[in-house]
Amino acid sequence: MITIALAKGRTLEGILPLWTAANLPVPADLDDSRALVFEESSEQYGIVRFLLAKPADVPTYVSFGVADIGIVGKDVLIENPKDVYELLDLQAAQCKLCVAGRPEDKDTRPRRVATKYPRLADQYFRSQGVSVELVTLSGSIELAAVIGLADRIFDLVQTGATLAANGLVVFDEVLDVSARLIANRSSYRMKRNLVDEISRRITSVLAAEVGR
Ligand code: AMP
Repeated sequence: MITIALAKGRTLEGILPLWTAANLPVPADLDDSRALVFEESSEQYGIVRFLLAKPADVPTYVSFGVADIGIVGKDVLIENPKDVYELLDLQAAQCKLCVAGRPEDKDTRPRRVATKYPRLADQYFRSQGVSVELVTLSGSIELAAVIGLADRIFDLVQTGATLAANGLVVFDEVLDVSARLIANRSSYRMKRNLVDEISRRITSVLAAEVGR
């Protein structure tokens, strides 16, 4: 039995094509179910259990060992480091951590920044030599700039559609983000063959994509 914690939302959507192309077991009714735990049995992997978790919680499930491996964005791993192995860059669910805001704020000094990444935002603005007030929100960060709660947002941008729909623009690109395969340290020792086989399959799909 192997248990895999998956970050719900964009990360899961982004990695499913890769996961499927790697011929790894996928829960059949993932899309139209509200269930949070799925089990599939596979000849090669035995019982594969999937936990669908909030992205920020995936490293926690993996570090406690209730999930052997997990898939989560690099943003989450940097913002809140946990004691897990980072095995592989899946090169999927790619996006950028950006500073953005209203066009009229572009040339003003940053004062108040809304984000769900207070640690990374703090590091970034310190590195720019500016001291800002951070407002930590848990989602729809763009709203804070639209209604003037903050003069900057520090958030993920994938297609740019959400910024555009809200009249916001990117001021700076801070970090490239993609989904990562992580593993619990003792699971990696005890279930090394299984985990390595999963990594190997994904790596060969990624290599074939590069060669195409
Ligand atoms: P987009 O409109 O495609 O640029 O996406 C921007 C919105 O989706 C923002 O609210 C982001 O916080 C969120 N978002 C974009 N990419 C990701 C990702 N890989 N994981 C989680 N949230 C994301």
